[in-house]
Amino acid sequence: MCALLLSKPYTKALTRSGQQCSTSGQYHRLSTLCRLLLQVLSPLFVCFCIATHHHRYCKARGYPTLFVCGTDEYGTATETKALEEGVTPRQLCDKYNKLHAEIYDWFEIGFDIFGRTSTEQQKEITQDIFRRLYKNDCLVERTSRQPYCEKHKSFLADRFIEGTCPKCGYDDARGDQCDSCGSVDYEPLDLKNPRCKVDPDITPVARDTRHIHLKLDKLQPQIEEWFEKSSREGGWSRNGRFITESWLKQGLRDRGITRDLKWGTPIPLDVFTNEKDKEIYKDKVFYVWFDACIGYPSITANYTKEWEKWWRDPENVQLYQFMGKGTNDVDFDPKATR
Ligand SMILES: [Zn+2]
Ligand SMILES: [Zn+2]
Repeated sequence: MCALLLSKPYTKALTRSGQQCSTSGQYHRLSTLCRLLLQVLSPLFVCFCIATHHHRYCKARGYPTLFVCGTDEYGTATETKALEEGVTPRQLCDKYNKLHAEIYDWFEIGFDIFGRTSTEQQKEITQDIFRRLYKNDCLVERTSRQPYCEKHKSFLADRFIEGTCPKCGYDDARGDQCDSCGSVDYEPLDLKNPRCKVDPDITPVARDTRHIHLKLDKLQPQIEEWFEKSSREGGWSRNGRFITESWLKQGLRDRGITRDLKWGTPIPLDVFTNEKDKEIYKDKVFYVWFDACIGYPSITANYTKEWEKWWRDPENVQLYQFMGKGTNDVDFDPKATR
């Protein structure tokens, strides 16, 4: 996904110049062509092609715009892949960030900045948002049972535990999914003969772990209000509106935003008043889906010190997001693996 930010003169200029209809028409025809291409090309690249076209048009018209994209790099998917390739998560992300950037350069996508989430700016902005949530009573702590490896002294994310599928008996099922029968309807500790992916000779044990959850239920009224306005004014797709409406109808639940991992944005320990909490949370990081979306402001902060003028001025800036088709972009898993 990439994002295009336009400052307000865009809309005014379009209206004033009387070009809005024909421009929309051309844009619509191009979008239709791109939608057809979508069936044969990678959805990701078509998304970039549409965004690039829109960006170039805005620049040509002299509208102040910023076109940002990057790699979100944290989570267990990265840790697992690094383990497989025998490198550190940092080395792995350096390699793939460079590879991505070179491919987009070759296609002349023309981002103003192609950044990444493993930066100091990402840490600062994510921690700042977390502190505000903490102060405004939007967080709650919960305890759950998670598999733990006593050999490498770590809780095991779903992808770090393997065993026999409780549904079909397949030997190499993962904690979050069985690749043989496709089942996702079990907990990691339901696996028979479970083993640690790092230490295959070790049987993980169940241990209690504490995590911080975001009170989405408390925030539901504000989220509903924002959704009504944003989906109407932003012309959301029918699918996007439908999925969001169905969640709101069910009622939002709180979601865990921390994980027992090392590769991630650290929790700011200064919010905790007692030493015991500091000790517990020093070994945890933010869940990747909590901080991945903060990547857009932080990548902008890597581009300009004045990033807040783009991200904290909704009256004067419009945000356009261009998304490839990805089921992970729709929701984040409450029990979670990344
Ligand atoms: Zn199975
Ligand atoms: Zn282990």
